[in-house]
Amino acid sequence: MTDIKIYRCSVCGYIYRDKKAPCECPFCHNQKSFNQISPDSLNFEFFKDTWQRQVKWMNATKYQDEIKLNPNEETLKGLAESMGKYLKEGQQCYCPCRVLSNNPEADRKIICPCYLYMGEIEIWGRCHCSLYVTPKWAKENKIDSA
Ligand code: SF4
Ligand SMILES: [Zn+2]
Repeated sequence: MTDIKIYRCSVCGYIYRDKKAPCECPFCHNQKSFNQISPDSLNFEFFKDTWQRQVKWMNATKYQDEIKLNPNEETLKGLAESMGKYLKEGQQCYCPCRVLSNNPEADRKIICPCYLYMGEIEIWGRCHCSLYVTPKWAKENKIDSA
């Protein structure tokens, strides 16, 4: 039985596995913001709630309402399934569209939201997985509003 637990930041929604809750969130840098999550709760609704928190935090700190979740539920369900699988297998909440090196230190940068998401949104109007998108991208790709 592993003693590694799953935590989620109550401010930005960042998910992290560790023996105990990190003192500081690696993503939003708030202190003591992590709550423990039961592996049984890793369903689609949990991930959607998590991503909504992340979008809210991104918009409040950088994007001024220029980021939204991809309105396509099928895309979101696929991402929830992949990230949930990683977590249930005892790994971090890795991005399903990036290749793991299997060096946990090096792979920290591809825990979602990954280190490349900002640059990709700037260039393409979406992150690589199309989890976070701009309204312009959603409109151009004819994806209905959520
Ligand atoms: S590409 Fe998007 S979904 Fe994948 S880790 Fe980066 S931010 Fe998350
Ligand atoms: Zn955080």
